[in-house]
Amino acid sequence: HASNIQTQIHALFDRFVQAQTCKETQQNFIELCRHLKVEPRDYKHFYSKLKDRLNYWKAKDLWQKIDKRAAHPDYEQGQACHQHKCLVLGAGPCGLRTAIELALLGAQVVVLDKRVSFMRNNVLHLWLYTIRDLLNLGAKKFYGRFCSGSIHHISIRQLQLILLKLALILGVEVHTGVTFEGLLEPAGGSTGWRAQVSPGSHTAAAFEFDVFISAGGGRYVPDGFKIKELRGKLAIGITANFVNRHTKQEAQVQEISGVARIYNQKFFQELQSEIGVDLENIVYYKDDTHYFVMTAKKGSLLKKGVIKQDFPDVNQLLAPANVNQEALQEYAYDAADFSTDHMLPDLEFAKNHAGRPDVAMFDFTCMHRAENASLVKERKGKRLLVALVGDSLVEPFWPLGTGIARGFLAAFDTAWMVRNWGKGVLPLELLAERESMYQLLSQTTPENTSKNYASYSIDPSTRYPNVSLSCIKPTQVKHKVLDAHLLTCKSCKCHTTVTSLRRLEDLLSWCQKNTAGYKHVKVKDLSESWRSGMALCALIHNFRPELIDLSSLDEYNITGTNKLAFDLMEREFGITPVMRASEMTTCGKIDQLSMVVYLTQIRNALTEKET
Ligand code: FAD
Repeated sequence: HASNIQTQIHALFDRFVQAQTCKETQQNFIELCRHLKVEPRDYKHFYSKLKDRLNYWKAKDLWQKIDKRAAHPDYEQGQACHQHKCLVLGAGPCGLRTAIELALLGAQVVVLDKRVSFMRNNVLHLWLYTIRDLLNLGAKKFYGRFCSGSIHHISIRQLQLILLKLALILGVEVHTGVTFEGLLEPAGGSTGWRAQVSPGSHTAAAFEFDVFISAGGGRYVPDGFKIKELRGKLAIGITANFVNRHTKQEAQVQEISGVARIYNQKFFQELQSEIGVDLENIVYYKDDTHYFVMTAKKGSLLKKGVIKQDFPDVNQLLAPANVNQEALQEYAYDAADFSTDHMLPDLEFAKNHAGRPDVAMFDFTCMHRAENASLVKERKGKRLLVALVGDSLVEPFWPLGTGIARGFLAAFDTAWMVRNWGKGVLPLELLAERESMYQLLSQTTPENTSKNYASYSIDPSTRYPNVSLSCIKPTQVKHKVLDAHLLTCKSCKCHTTVTSLRRLEDLLSWCQKNTAGYKHVKVKDLSESWRSGMALCALIHNFRPELIDLSSLDEYNITGTNKLAFDLMEREFGITPVMRASEMTTCGKIDQLSMVVYLTQIRNALTEKET
């Protein structure tokens, strides 16, 4: 009888590990817990009890991997945040990845998602560090084909499934079909911060927390955060997924890791002349599905009848009523068929969440980015740390494939902040450190982040070489990250750490002193005065005249002059630029915070050389 029960339990574990839907995963997990008599709500001891009671050879390598990660000193054996309770909004890849780290820190973690299923077939390109991260967490155990192709990628739904299973094993409570509607302030007495959810009767409504992580994706912004919009030229993307039958013939077709028009003029000209499909770029990945993503030109979409009528406003242009779905399917089909040299047999659209052919057209003309990554609220003596991660923090530009890489970096940075919150670091210092890291995020690339993937942890210094966690001072972030109540509360301890605004004035006068007398340079502030790049070049020249020939500079060649200055600063002084040279030419305002970070690093480097 006992061995019968063991067999049943092992089969349940196998089913949980291999489950291919969110529902199946949750059901098998509940069953497994019931059979093993372990209570998931006993989050502090859940993982160790599960491990002890599930004596199954197939689980051993997974336990080893999790134990190795959990033993990292950053987590202080699950004690670092053992008194904290965290609510994570969104069970997308970034919400779940953050939840896993918070659970490892010993916090009680609850995740909410309004969706009941993981249905996104779209395939994401992954940076090497994220692959290593997922492999170290046992990704292959849950998904044997993980990154086995020539190009590294995974579908969103498979990634969510891997992370969901890990989160559950670590004692995270995940509720699907629950919509977060807003934060509920403490009512007084001993009650804390809670969430208003729908359905209102859900148990999650009673959960009180002191950390709120918003990972609701690109369009979700909680109260208190400001969003910047980065507008580029009109960009229309199309994604299409076709059934992968995993036949030999399909296996032989080459993936396309991203052909951009500038690199392969001939291919795009033929595509246009032969089938009338005019694209800027195209990507093809072979994963659970045959996945294609491309940027299409408006003219050809109009000509092919995909877009019915031209409108200057992109929302009107791509409104469902203005799109002919059949023509769109035909367009995507033709592009996929042509770009794979007609080698994929019987192309058949996979189904999307609504059971319809999985082809979608979307606008990525505008990208959103939060002005700051975190804030602290306080009501009735209860503090709440609020942080954004994933697309809700910075919407990625899909052709660069930065979504998951930067999303996970922000998840780790956030976990580090929560760890310090647990250690009692004062709010302003905590938030200034988080904002210092956030300044780096949009500049991160596989090249400028550490290559020592094995040592990656939530500690930012393991991932960002030469990171300065204090380049943004508490006084600089004060008005952005403390809500009005905390700002006016004179008795708050955090005010003792506020350093004076004098530091900004000092920086400005240092810049003025060292650029005085240079032609076409007038430094009046720490933002607009730096647009042409001439002031940066003057600074370099003032300290290292041999590096730069001022007579060769053109104050109207903004991109060129800034690029020269940024490159010199990086090459000679190891200072990574905080923005792209081309961004200086756009009409948007120069971000003073970024400029202050950059100039502070420059002053430190140049004056170091001076002394
Ligand atoms: P999401 O995946 O959007 O998850 C957010 C979750 O929050 C959802 O499950 C949603 O249901 C839930 N939610 C939202 N509001 C609420 C609410 N009020 N209550 C409860 N739940 C809520 N990235 C890459 O790294 N590589 C690529 O190659 C790549 N290619 C891409 C191609 C395209 C065409 C697109 C559009 C994106 C691409 N990305 C890529 C970006 C990548 O998809 C995202 O960065 C990633 O999915 C973000 O994860 P997330 O967890 O932040 O948000």
